[in-house]
Amino acid sequence: MAGVPPKHGLRTTLSHIGRITKNEHGFINPPLLRGSTVLVPTVAERKALGARRGERVLTYGTGGSATHWALEDAMAAIEGGTRCYIVSTGLAAVTTPLLAWLKAGDHLLMPDSVYGPARTFAATILKQFGVETDYYKPQIDEAGMAALMRPNTRVVYTESPGSHTFEMQDIPAIARAAHAGGAKVFMDNTWGIHHFQPFTHGVDVSIQAATKYPAGHSDVLIGAIIVNNEADWQVLHAAGRNLGQYASPDDCWLTLRGIRTMAVRLQAQMESGLQVAHWLRHQPEVAQVLHPALPGAPGHDLWRRDFTGACSLFGVEFKPTFTPEATHRFVESLQLFGIGASWGGYESLAIPTTGFITRTAGTGKFAGPVVRMHIGLEDVDDLITDIRQALAQMRAFKG
Ligand SMILES: *Cc1c(COP(=O)(O)O)cnc(C)c1O
Repeated sequence: MAGVPPKHGLRTTLSHIGRITKNEHGFINPPLLRGSTVLVPTVAERKALGARRGERVLTYGTGGSATHWALEDAMAAIEGGTRCYIVSTGLAAVTTPLLAWLKAGDHLLMPDSVYGPARTFAATILKQFGVETDYYKPQIDEAGMAALMRPNTRVVYTESPGSHTFEMQDIPAIARAAHAGGAKVFMDNTWGIHHFQPFTHGVDVSIQAATKYPAGHSDVLIGAIIVNNEADWQVLHAAGRNLGQYASPDDCWLTLRGIRTMAVRLQAQMESGLQVAHWLRHQPEVAQVLHPALPGAPGHDLWRRDFTGACSLFGVEFKPTFTPEATHRFVESLQLFGIGASWGGYESLAIPTTGFITRTAGTGKFAGPVVRMHIGLEDVDDLITDIRQALAQMRAFKG
């Protein structure tokens, strides 16, 4: 099944993909296969098996089992790529391809709005291994990116919209400049899952924190790396195996279960998220809502050009008359929103952005304090009622 692009809509694909039809005793879902050692009857067969590393045969636990392969097929179909490698966390999905494609003496370009732990990885492990990283303005155009390319620039990393500050990137333009300079284009596509098809926009390696909407229930950590040709698959697969990257079959199984309902969850959460974002925009405390799918919001034109939908994560910039501490009161006054990192589950979350993020290329500056919100599957009227009372608490805050 690997490499089969979805012939149907997302809901149909997610209802049918990754369901092995034999050896299931008639059950609809594939079995959960756990194991490390794979026994064979003869030494000759053990030798023959060793030569088949990389194929979808059971050789050893770290090579994956049918449970992993079903999830790989599902994630590849969601992202429109040919192959997927499943890893232990979303962060491992960031770091594994960076280690696969970069070597000492190489240069890496990352957007200033990159997911924080990716920045930390570049500043520590990659630096330690002799890779130099520069940060660019996320809204860079083709000429701007061309000017930043060096002969040793091997990877141009992207993330659109950016973590916490939601800057949209012109991925096709960036990809043209990157490819002209001989670099690979990576994209953290966690926000755009399925609604942005990376490989038709010039991306070579797509990164998914499947912890978010695919798992969908805030109880699994898992990552997926998706590529779109055999040569890239060979590089990725070799690195993943060499690094010992592996995800528990239990977590793969749970993520596969999450995926069955992901399309309807995403649809419901997109609609609720846009309703809340639209309502928030009209509140007197709010300067702007950083939601690329909201008409008139920053980056909306690029979103409309390149995306077919949105998830339910966005930012709210309050008027500069409110202090960051006042927005902490707002967040703490919410009854239906948890204060926490991560997102993509069924529950609503809110977390301050101002004072909690790092930017080194001078971007992501706002006049007022910013809060990130994730809209879950609750009734949207209840969420708005809750936000209304928390705004009143914020107005009353004297700090
Ligand atoms: C959460 C997140 C990750 C990392 O995922 P984990 O499973 O938590 O390690 C990577 N990229 C983005 C954009 C994220 O939001």
